[in-house]
Amino acid sequence: MAGLAAASTLASRGIKVILLEAAGQLGGRARSVAIEFNSQVVQLDNGQHIMLGAYHETLKLLEQVGINAHDAFMRIPLSLEIQNLAQRDGNKTVFKLNIPSYLPAPLNQLFGFLSCQGLSWRERIAVVRFMLHLKNSEYQLAIDSPLADFLQQNQQSSNVVKLLWEPLCLAALNTPINLASSKIFLNVLKDTFSSKQNSDFLLPKQDLSQLFSQPIESYLKKHGAKIVLNQRVKSIKTDKNGYVVYTKEAQFKASHVIVAISPVRLRNVITELPKLEFAAQQTDRYDYQPIYTIYLQYERDITLPKPMLGMVGGVSQWVFDRGILCGQSGLMAVIISAEGKHQQYTQDTLALRVAQELRDAFPQLIKPLWHKVIAEKRATFSCDVNLPRPANLTSYAGLYLAGDYTYADYPATIEGAVRSGLACAELVCNT
Ligand SMILES: Cc1cc2nc3c(=O)[nH]c(=O)nc-3n(C[C@H](O)[C@H](O)[C@H](O)COP(=O)(O)OP(=O)(O)OC[C@H]3O[C@@H](n4cnc5c(N)ncnc54)[C@H](O)[C@@H]3O)c2cc1C
Repeated sequence: MAGLAAASTLASRGIKVILLEAAGQLGGRARSVAIEFNSQVVQLDNGQHIMLGAYHETLKLLEQVGINAHDAFMRIPLSLEIQNLAQRDGNKTVFKLNIPSYLPAPLNQLFGFLSCQGLSWRERIAVVRFMLHLKNSEYQLAIDSPLADFLQQNQQSSNVVKLLWEPLCLAALNTPINLASSKIFLNVLKDTFSSKQNSDFLLPKQDLSQLFSQPIESYLKKHGAKIVLNQRVKSIKTDKNGYVVYTKEAQFKASHVIVAISPVRLRNVITELPKLEFAAQQTDRYDYQPIYTIYLQYERDITLPKPMLGMVGGVSQWVFDRGILCGQSGLMAVIISAEGKHQQYTQDTLALRVAQELRDAFPQLIKPLWHKVIAEKRATFSCDVNLPRPANLTSYAGLYLAGDYTYADYPATIEGAVRSGLACAELVCNT
Protein backbone atom coordinates (compact mmCIF):
# COMPACT_ATOMS: atom_id res chain seq x y z
CA MET A 1 0.00 0.00 0.00
CA ALA A 2 2.93 2.34 0.70
CA GLY A 3 4.41 1.75 -2.75
CA LEU A 4 1.02 1.96 -4.45
CA ALA A 5 0.17 5.24 -2.70
CA ALA A 6 3.55 6.75 -3.61
CA ALA A 7 3.36 5.58 -7.22
CA SER A 8 -0.22 6.86 -7.70
CA THR A 9 0.66 10.29 -6.34
CA LEU A 10 3.78 10.61 -8.47
CA ALA A 11 2.13 9.30 -11.62
CA SER A 12 -0.80 11.70 -11.15
CA ARG A 13 1.72 14.57 -11.17
CA GLY A 14 3.22 13.48 -14.46
CA ILE A 15 6.34 11.93 -12.96
CA LYS A 16 7.65 8.82 -14.71
CA VAL A 17 7.26 5.85 -12.36
CA ILE A 18 8.54 2.30 -12.53
CA LEU A 19 7.00 0.02 -9.92
CA LEU A 20 9.02 -3.15 -9.22
CA GLU A 21 7.11 -5.85 -7.35
CA ALA A 22 8.66 -9.13 -6.24
CA ALA A 23 5.36 -11.02 -6.22
CA GLY A 24 3.16 -11.98 -9.14
CA GLN A 25 0.49 -9.54 -7.98
CA LEU A 26 0.27 -6.12 -6.38
CA GLY A 27 -1.12 -5.42 -2.92
CA GLY A 28 1.51 -6.85 -0.57
CA ARG A 29 -0.07 -7.84 2.71
CA ALA A 30 -3.45 -6.35 1.70
CA ARG A 31 -4.24 -8.68 -1.18
CA SER A 32 -6.65 -11.43 -2.03
CA VAL A 33 -5.73 -14.98 -2.96
CA ALA A 34 -7.55 -17.44 -5.18
CA ILE A 35 -8.16 -20.83 -3.53
CA GLU A 36 -9.54 -23.85 -5.35
CA PHE A 37 -12.09 -26.15 -3.72
CA ASN A 38 -13.73 -29.01 -5.63
CA SER A 39 -12.77 -27.34 -8.93
CA GLN A 40 -14.38 -24.09 -7.76
CA VAL A 41 -12.22 -21.00 -7.29
CA VAL A 42 -12.94 -18.89 -4.22
CA GLN A 43 -11.41 -15.47 -3.75
CA LEU A 44 -10.24 -15.03 -0.15
CA ASP A 45 -8.29 -12.22 1.48
CA ASN A 46 -4.90 -13.07 2.91
CA GLY A 47 -6.48 -11.77 6.10
CA GLN A 48 -9.77 -10.06 6.85
CA HIS A 49 -8.99 -6.33 7.04
CA ILE A 50 -10.99 -3.62 8.73
CA MET A 51 -10.51 0.05 8.30
CA LEU A 52 -11.71 3.02 10.34
CA GLY A 53 -13.36 6.29 9.41
CA ALA A 54 -10.05 7.81 10.56
CA TYR A 55 -8.27 6.32 7.51
CA HIS A 56 -8.56 9.64 5.67
CA GLU A 57 -5.58 9.27 3.36
CA THR A 58 -6.53 5.75 2.32
CA LEU A 59 -10.05 6.93 1.54
CA LYS A 60 -8.66 9.85 -0.48
CA LEU A 61 -6.37 7.49 -2.39
CA LEU A 62 -9.29 5.21 -3.18
CA GLU A 63 -11.35 8.17 -4.36
CA GLN A 64 -8.45 9.30 -6.55
CA VAL A 65 -8.35 5.93 -8.29
CA GLY A 66 -12.10 5.86 -8.77
CA ILE A 67 -13.39 3.82 -5.84
CA ASN A 68 -16.57 5.08 -4.25
CA ALA A 69 -16.24 4.48 -0.49
CA HIS A 70 -19.99 4.20 -0.15
CA ASP A 71 -20.05 1.24 -2.55
CA ALA A 72 -16.80 -0.27 -1.33
CA PHE A 73 -17.41 -0.39 2.44
CA MET A 74 -20.10 -1.18 4.92
CA ARG A 75 -19.78 1.77 7.30
CA ILE A 76 -21.03 1.02 10.79
CA PRO A 77 -20.80 3.19 13.91
CA LEU A 78 -18.32 1.71 16.39
CA SER A 79 -20.03 -1.14 18.16
CA LEU A 80 -18.56 -4.14 19.92
CA GLU A 81 -20.39 -7.26 20.90
CA ILE A 82 -18.34 -9.89 22.68
CA GLN A 83 -19.25 -13.51 23.42
CA ASN A 84 -17.54 -15.41 26.21
CA LEU A 85 -16.67 -18.84 24.81
CA ALA A 86 -15.68 -20.12 28.25
CA GLN A 87 -19.26 -19.63 29.48
CA ARG A 88 -20.87 -23.02 29.11
CA ASP A 89 -24.61 -22.35 29.37
CA GLY A 90 -27.08 -19.62 28.55
CA ASN A 91 -26.44 -16.30 26.91
CA LYS A 92 -22.79 -15.97 26.02
CA THR A 93 -22.97 -12.25 25.18
CA VAL A 94 -20.90 -10.69 27.94
CA PHE A 95 -20.24 -7.23 26.54
CA LYS A 96 -22.01 -4.75 24.29
CA LEU A 97 -20.82 -1.28 23.40
CA ASN A 98 -22.53 1.01 20.93
CA ILE A 99 -21.22 4.49 20.23
CA PRO A 100 -24.44 6.15 19.05
CA SER A 101 -24.27 7.95 15.72
CA TYR A 102 -27.03 10.44 16.61
CA LEU A 103 -24.89 12.23 19.24
CA PRO A 104 -21.89 14.49 18.54
CA ALA A 105 -18.41 13.53 19.80
CA PRO A 106 -17.45 13.30 22.66
CA LEU A 107 -21.03 12.97 23.97
CA ASN A 108 -21.52 9.85 21.88
CA GLN A 109 -18.54 8.19 23.64
CA LEU A 110 -19.73 9.29 27.05
CA PHE A 111 -23.16 7.87 26.39
CA GLY A 112 -21.73 4.73 24.75
CA PHE A 113 -19.37 3.87 27.61
CA LEU A 114 -21.87 4.71 30.35
CA SER A 115 -24.58 2.58 28.78
CA CYS A 116 -22.43 -0.38 27.72
CA GLN A 117 -23.51 -3.82 28.94
CA GLY A 118 -21.22 -6.20 30.76
CA LEU A 119 -19.40 -3.75 33.04
CA SER A 120 -20.41 -2.68 36.54
CA TRP A 121 -21.23 0.98 37.19
CA ARG A 122 -17.91 1.40 38.92
CA GLU A 123 -16.11 -0.02 35.87
CA ARG A 124 -18.06 2.16 33.44
CA ILE A 125 -17.24 5.26 35.45
CA ALA A 126 -13.58 4.22 35.55
CA VAL A 127 -13.60 3.93 31.73
CA VAL A 128 -15.21 7.36 31.30
CA ARG A 129 -12.76 8.96 33.75
CA PHE A 130 -9.87 7.31 31.93
CA MET A 131 -11.13 8.56 28.55
CA LEU A 132 -11.58 12.10 29.94
CA HIS A 133 -8.09 11.98 31.42
CA LEU A 134 -6.69 10.91 28.04
CA LYS A 135 -8.58 13.69 26.27
CA ASN A 136 -7.38 16.32 28.74
CA SER A 137 -3.79 15.19 28.29
CA GLU A 138 -4.32 15.19 24.48
CA TYR A 139 -3.58 11.45 24.47
CA GLN A 140 0.12 12.25 25.08
CA LEU A 141 2.44 10.22 27.28
CA ALA A 142 5.86 11.39 28.44
CA ILE A 143 7.12 7.85 28.92
CA ASP A 144 6.01 4.80 26.99
CA SER A 145 5.11 1.61 28.87
CA PRO A 146 3.31 -1.69 28.16
CA LEU A 147 -0.40 -1.07 27.74
CA ALA A 148 -1.32 -3.67 30.39
CA ASP A 149 0.67 -1.70 33.02
CA PHE A 150 -0.68 1.64 31.88
CA LEU A 151 -4.29 0.41 32.12
CA GLN A 152 -3.71 -0.98 35.58
CA GLN A 153 -2.20 2.33 36.73
CA ASN A 154 -5.36 3.99 35.43
CA GLN A 155 -7.75 1.84 37.48
CA GLN A 156 -9.00 -0.31 34.62
CA SER A 157 -10.18 -3.58 36.19
CA SER A 158 -9.20 -6.96 34.77
CA ASN A 159 -12.77 -7.37 33.49
CA VAL A 160 -12.60 -4.05 31.57
CA VAL A 161 -9.21 -5.02 30.18
CA LYS A 162 -10.48 -8.44 29.09
CA LEU A 163 -13.71 -7.24 27.48
CA LEU A 164 -12.74 -3.84 26.10
CA TRP A 165 -9.08 -2.89 26.00
CA GLU A 166 -7.46 -6.20 25.15
CA PRO A 167 -9.70 -6.92 22.14
CA LEU A 168 -9.12 -3.35 20.91
CA CYS A 169 -5.37 -3.61 21.44
CA LEU A 170 -5.15 -6.89 19.54
CA ALA A 171 -7.29 -5.56 16.71
CA ALA A 172 -5.45 -2.27 16.40
CA LEU A 173 -1.83 -3.14 17.26
CA ASN A 174 -1.74 -6.91 16.66
CA THR A 175 0.45 -7.08 19.73
CA PRO A 176 -0.14 -8.74 23.12
CA ILE A 177 -1.28 -6.19 25.67
CA ASN A 178 1.70 -6.89 27.96
CA LEU A 179 4.10 -5.85 25.15
CA ALA A 180 2.03 -3.24 23.29
CA SER A 181 3.12 0.38 23.27
CA SER A 182 0.73 2.59 25.27
CA LYS A 183 1.86 5.62 23.25
CA ILE A 184 0.89 4.11 19.91
CA PHE A 185 -2.38 2.76 21.33
CA LEU A 186 -3.25 6.26 22.54
CA ASN A 187 -2.47 7.68 19.08
CA VAL A 188 -4.99 5.24 17.62
CA LEU A 189 -7.58 6.14 20.28
CA LYS A 190 -7.00 9.84 19.67
CA ASP A 191 -7.59 9.61 15.94
CA THR A 192 -10.48 7.19 16.36
CA PHE A 193 -12.34 9.27 18.90
CA SER A 194 -11.53 12.75 17.59
CA SER A 195 -14.76 12.86 15.57
CA LYS A 196 -17.91 10.84 15.18
CA GLN A 197 -17.10 9.60 11.67
CA ASN A 198 -13.52 8.66 12.58
CA SER A 199 -14.66 5.91 14.90
CA ASP A 200 -16.84 4.19 12.30
CA PHE A 201 -15.77 0.74 11.19
CA LEU A 202 -15.32 0.42 7.45
CA LEU A 203 -15.77 -3.22 6.47
CA PRO A 204 -14.81 -4.04 2.88
CA LYS A 205 -17.68 -5.19 0.67
CA GLN A 206 -15.19 -6.49 -1.91
CA ASP A 207 -12.10 -8.60 -1.72
CA LEU A 208 -8.89 -6.71 -1.00
CA SER A 209 -7.51 -6.88 -4.53
CA GLN A 210 -10.76 -5.53 -6.00
CA LEU A 211 -10.66 -2.81 -3.39
CA PHE A 212 -7.02 -1.73 -3.59
CA SER A 213 -4.56 -3.18 -6.07
CA GLN A 214 -6.79 -3.63 -9.12
CA PRO A 215 -8.15 -0.06 -9.31
CA ILE A 216 -4.73 1.35 -8.38
CA GLU A 217 -3.05 -0.77 -11.08
CA SER A 218 -5.51 0.52 -13.71
CA TYR A 219 -4.97 4.08 -12.51
CA LEU A 220 -1.19 3.71 -12.67
CA LYS A 221 -1.30 2.28 -16.18
CA LYS A 222 -3.63 5.07 -17.31
CA HIS A 223 -1.13 7.60 -15.96
CA GLY A 224 1.82 6.07 -17.78
CA ALA A 225 3.47 4.16 -14.92
CA LYS A 226 5.33 0.99 -15.78
CA ILE A 227 4.54 -1.97 -13.51
CA VAL A 228 6.92 -4.91 -13.49
CA LEU A 229 5.74 -7.95 -11.52
CA ASN A 230 7.94 -10.87 -10.43
CA GLN A 231 10.94 -8.54 -10.15
CA ARG A 232 12.55 -8.98 -6.75
CA VAL A 233 15.01 -6.16 -6.14
CA LYS A 234 18.36 -7.64 -5.15
CA SER A 235 20.33 -4.46 -4.56
CA ILE A 236 20.43 -0.73 -5.12
CA LYS A 237 23.60 1.15 -5.99
CA THR A 238 24.32 4.83 -6.29
CA ASP A 239 25.24 6.13 -9.73
CA LYS A 240 26.27 9.54 -11.03
CA ASN A 241 22.68 10.31 -12.09
CA GLY A 242 20.96 8.78 -9.09
CA TYR A 243 20.52 5.04 -8.59
CA VAL A 244 20.65 1.70 -10.34
CA VAL A 245 18.19 -0.87 -9.04
CA TYR A 246 19.18 -4.49 -9.72
CA THR A 247 16.85 -7.44 -10.00
CA LYS A 248 17.90 -10.96 -11.04
CA GLU A 249 17.32 -10.29 -14.74
CA ALA A 250 17.44 -6.56 -15.20
CA GLN A 251 18.63 -3.21 -13.97
CA PHE A 252 16.67 0.01 -13.78
CA LYS A 253 18.12 3.51 -13.61
CA ALA A 254 16.29 6.15 -11.65
CA SER A 255 16.90 9.63 -10.32
CA HIS A 256 14.90 8.79 -7.17
CA VAL A 257 14.07 5.53 -5.41
CA ILE A 258 11.38 4.77 -2.84
CA VAL A 259 12.09 1.53 -1.01
CA ALA A 260 8.57 0.42 -0.04
CA ILE A 261 9.14 -3.06 1.33
CA SER A 262 8.29 -4.59 4.68
CA PRO A 263 10.91 -4.07 7.42
CA VAL A 264 11.77 -7.76 7.47
CA ARG A 265 13.16 -7.44 3.92
CA LEU A 266 15.00 -4.16 4.34
CA ARG A 267 18.44 -5.51 5.15
CA ASN A 268 18.48 -7.74 2.06
CA VAL A 269 18.19 -4.89 -0.42
CA ILE A 270 20.43 -2.27 1.18
CA THR A 271 23.73 -4.16 1.21
CA GLU A 272 25.22 -1.64 -1.25
CA LEU A 273 23.91 1.37 0.68
CA PRO A 274 26.07 1.56 3.82
CA LYS A 275 24.48 4.79 5.00
CA LEU A 276 21.24 2.84 5.59
CA GLU A 277 22.96 0.59 8.10
CA PHE A 278 21.36 2.47 11.00
CA ALA A 279 17.83 1.93 9.64
CA ALA A 280 18.66 -1.74 9.06
CA GLN A 281 19.93 -2.06 12.63
CA GLN A 282 16.71 -0.50 13.88
CA THR A 283 14.54 -2.96 11.96
CA ASP A 284 16.81 -5.90 12.93
CA ARG A 285 15.47 -5.35 16.45
CA TYR A 286 11.87 -5.88 15.38
CA ASP A 287 9.82 -8.84 16.47
CA TYR A 288 6.87 -9.87 14.35
CA GLN A 289 3.38 -10.98 15.22
CA PRO A 290 1.20 -13.44 13.31
CA ILE A 291 -2.40 -13.09 12.17
CA TYR A 292 -4.37 -16.26 11.47
CA THR A 293 -7.52 -16.12 9.39
CA ILE A 294 -9.64 -19.26 9.52
CA TYR A 295 -12.21 -19.38 6.74
CA LEU A 296 -15.13 -21.72 7.34
CA GLN A 297 -17.73 -22.27 4.65
CA TYR A 298 -21.21 -23.22 5.91
CA GLU A 299 -24.42 -23.83 4.00
CA ARG A 300 -25.20 -20.70 2.00
CA ASP A 301 -28.29 -19.72 4.00
CA ILE A 302 -26.38 -19.54 7.31
CA THR A 303 -25.75 -16.05 8.67
CA LEU A 304 -24.67 -14.33 11.87
CA PRO A 305 -26.77 -11.67 13.61
CA LYS A 306 -24.09 -9.06 12.82
CA PRO A 307 -21.28 -8.78 10.25
CA MET A 308 -18.62 -8.64 12.99
CA LEU A 309 -18.67 -10.20 16.45
CA GLY A 310 -15.97 -10.54 19.10
CA MET A 311 -15.11 -13.57 21.21
CA VAL A 312 -13.09 -14.10 24.38
CA GLY A 313 -12.34 -17.21 26.45
CA GLY A 314 -11.22 -19.40 23.53
CA VAL A 315 -8.76 -19.07 20.66
CA SER A 316 -11.15 -17.23 18.29
CA GLN A 317 -11.17 -13.44 18.61
CA TRP A 318 -13.40 -12.01 15.88
CA VAL A 319 -15.74 -13.54 13.36
CA PHE A 320 -16.82 -11.78 10.17
CA ASP A 321 -19.79 -12.90 8.11
CA ARG A 322 -18.51 -12.61 4.53
CA GLY A 323 -22.04 -13.31 3.28
CA ILE A 324 -23.34 -10.09 4.85
CA LEU A 325 -20.20 -8.20 3.87
CA CYS A 326 -19.29 -9.26 0.39
CA GLY A 327 -21.91 -11.69 -0.84
CA GLN A 328 -19.87 -14.83 -0.03
CA SER A 329 -22.91 -16.52 1.52
CA GLY A 330 -22.23 -18.83 4.45
CA LEU A 331 -18.51 -17.97 4.56
CA MET A 332 -17.17 -16.97 8.00
CA ALA A 333 -13.71 -15.48 8.56
CA VAL A 334 -12.37 -15.92 12.08
CA ILE A 335 -9.40 -13.79 13.09
CA ILE A 336 -6.77 -14.63 15.66
CA SER A 337 -4.36 -11.74 16.12
CA ALA A 338 -0.90 -11.89 17.70
CA GLU A 339 1.03 -14.77 19.22
CA GLY A 340 -0.67 -17.43 21.34
CA LYS A 341 -1.33 -21.07 21.99
CA HIS A 342 -3.19 -21.40 18.68
CA GLN A 343 0.21 -21.43 16.95
CA GLN A 344 0.90 -24.87 18.43
CA TYR A 345 -1.96 -26.50 16.53
CA THR A 346 -1.82 -27.90 13.04
CA GLN A 347 -4.00 -25.93 10.64
CA ASP A 348 -6.65 -28.67 10.55
CA THR A 349 -6.76 -28.96 14.35
CA LEU A 350 -7.05 -25.20 14.63
CA ALA A 351 -9.90 -25.09 12.11
CA LEU A 352 -11.73 -27.87 14.00
CA ARG A 353 -11.27 -26.05 17.29
CA VAL A 354 -12.52 -22.76 15.84
CA ALA A 355 -15.50 -24.51 14.23
CA GLN A 356 -16.37 -25.98 17.64
CA GLU A 357 -16.09 -22.56 19.29
CA LEU A 358 -18.35 -21.03 16.65
CA ARG A 359 -20.89 -23.80 17.11
CA ASP A 360 -20.93 -23.22 20.87
CA ALA A 361 -21.42 -19.48 20.42
CA PHE A 362 -23.78 -19.56 17.41
CA PRO A 363 -25.77 -22.82 17.28
CA GLN A 364 -26.76 -22.22 13.63
CA LEU A 365 -23.11 -22.80 12.61
CA ILE A 366 -23.40 -26.58 12.77
CA LYS A 367 -20.69 -27.99 10.55
CA PRO A 368 -18.52 -26.27 7.97
CA LEU A 369 -18.40 -27.75 4.47
CA TRP A 370 -14.75 -26.82 4.09
CA HIS A 371 -12.13 -24.71 5.81
CA LYS A 372 -8.99 -22.86 4.87
CA VAL A 373 -6.46 -21.46 7.32
CA ILE A 374 -4.27 -18.58 6.17
CA ALA A 375 -1.45 -18.09 8.63
CA GLU A 376 0.52 -14.89 8.07
CA LYS A 377 3.39 -15.68 10.43
CA ARG A 378 4.94 -12.22 10.20
CA ALA A 379 1.79 -10.24 9.51
CA THR A 380 2.97 -7.09 11.26
CA PHE A 381 5.85 -5.82 13.33
CA SER A 382 5.20 -6.24 17.02
CA CYS A 383 4.20 -2.75 18.11
CA ASP A 384 6.29 -2.86 21.26
CA VAL A 385 7.20 -0.13 23.74
CA ASN A 386 9.72 2.40 22.36
CA LEU A 387 10.10 0.64 19.03
CA PRO A 388 12.60 2.55 16.87
CA ARG A 389 11.00 3.72 13.60
CA PRO A 390 13.22 4.71 10.66
CA ALA A 391 12.34 7.99 8.94
CA ASN A 392 11.26 8.36 5.29
CA LEU A 393 14.20 10.65 4.63
CA THR A 394 17.58 8.92 4.43
CA SER A 395 21.19 10.09 4.16
CA TYR A 396 21.02 9.38 0.42
CA ALA A 397 19.61 12.29 -1.57
CA GLY A 398 16.62 11.08 -3.56
CA LEU A 399 16.29 7.73 -1.77
CA TYR A 400 13.44 7.27 0.68
CA LEU A 401 11.99 4.56 2.90
CA ALA A 402 8.25 3.93 2.85
CA GLY A 403 6.12 1.32 4.58
CA ASP A 404 3.86 0.97 7.60
CA TYR A 405 6.90 0.72 9.91
CA THR A 406 8.10 4.22 8.91
CA TYR A 407 4.86 5.93 9.93
CA ALA A 408 5.90 6.39 13.55
CA ASP A 409 2.54 7.43 15.00
CA TYR A 410 0.69 4.26 14.04
CA PRO A 411 0.98 0.51 14.38
CA ALA A 412 1.21 -1.54 11.17
CA THR A 413 -1.89 -0.41 9.30
CA ILE A 414 -2.99 0.36 5.80
CA GLU A 415 -3.38 4.00 6.76
CA GLY A 416 0.18 4.19 8.13
CA ALA A 417 1.52 2.56 4.96
CA VAL A 418 -0.44 4.93 2.71
CA ARG A 419 0.65 7.99 4.68
CA SER A 420 4.29 6.91 4.47
CA GLY A 421 3.98 6.49 0.70
CA LEU A 422 2.41 9.91 0.32
CA ALA A 423 5.16 11.48 2.45
CA CYS A 424 7.84 9.91 0.21
CA ALA A 425 6.05 11.09 -2.93
CA GLU A 426 6.06 14.63 -1.50
CA LEU A 427 9.78 14.36 -0.77
CA VAL A 428 10.42 13.32 -4.37
CA CYS A 429 8.29 16.20 -5.68
CA ASN A 430 10.09 18.70 -3.44
CA THR A 431 13.40 17.83 -5.04
C1 LIG B 1 -3.51 -10.89 7.90
C2 LIG B 1 -3.37 -9.41 8.02
C3 LIG B 1 -4.43 -8.66 8.52
C4 LIG B 1 -4.31 -7.27 8.63
N1 LIG B 1 -5.38 -6.55 9.06
C5 LIG B 1 -5.33 -5.20 8.99
C6 LIG B 1 -6.48 -4.42 9.26
O1 LIG B 1 -7.54 -4.95 9.58
N2 LIG B 1 -6.39 -3.08 9.14
C7 LIG B 1 -5.22 -2.47 8.78
O2 LIG B 1 -5.19 -1.24 8.65
N3 LIG B 1 -4.09 -3.18 8.54
C8 LIG B 1 -4.13 -4.52 8.62
N4 LIG B 1 -3.01 -5.25 8.34
C9 LIG B 1 -1.74 -4.56 8.10
C10 LIG B 1 -1.65 -4.01 6.69
O3 LIG B 1 -2.00 -5.00 5.74
C11 LIG B 1 -0.21 -3.59 6.45
O4 LIG B 1 0.18 -2.70 7.47
C12 LIG B 1 -0.01 -2.89 5.12
O5 LIG B 1 -0.62 -3.59 4.07
C13 LIG B 1 1.48 -2.78 4.89
O6 LIG B 1 1.74 -2.18 3.65
P1 LIG B 1 3.23 -1.88 3.23
O7 LIG B 1 3.17 -1.25 1.89
O8 LIG B 1 3.92 -1.15 4.33
O9 LIG B 1 3.98 -3.29 3.16
P2 LIG B 1 3.68 -4.61 2.32
O10 LIG B 1 2.23 -4.83 2.18
O11 LIG B 1 4.48 -5.69 2.97
O12 LIG B 1 4.25 -4.31 0.89
C14 LIG B 1 5.58 -4.50 0.53
C15 LIG B 1 5.63 -4.93 -0.92
O13 LIG B 1 7.00 -5.03 -1.32
C16 LIG B 1 7.17 -6.22 -2.06
N5 LIG B 1 8.58 -6.59 -1.92
C17 LIG B 1 9.21 -7.09 -0.83
N6 LIG B 1 10.52 -7.26 -1.09
C18 LIG B 1 10.71 -6.85 -2.36
C19 LIG B 1 11.85 -6.77 -3.20
N7 LIG B 1 13.07 -7.14 -2.80
N8 LIG B 1 11.69 -6.30 -4.46
C20 LIG B 1 10.45 -5.90 -4.91
N9 LIG B 1 9.35 -5.95 -4.15
C21 LIG B 1 9.49 -6.42 -2.89
C22 LIG B 1 6.20 -7.20 -1.44
O14 LIG B 1 5.91 -8.27 -2.29
C23 LIG B 1 5.00 -6.29 -1.19
O15 LIG B 1 4.14 -6.22 -2.30
C24 LIG B 1 -3.09 -6.64 8.26
C25 LIG B 1 -2.03 -7.40 7.77
C26 LIG B 1 -2.16 -8.75 7.65
C27 LIG B 1 -1.01 -9.54 7.11
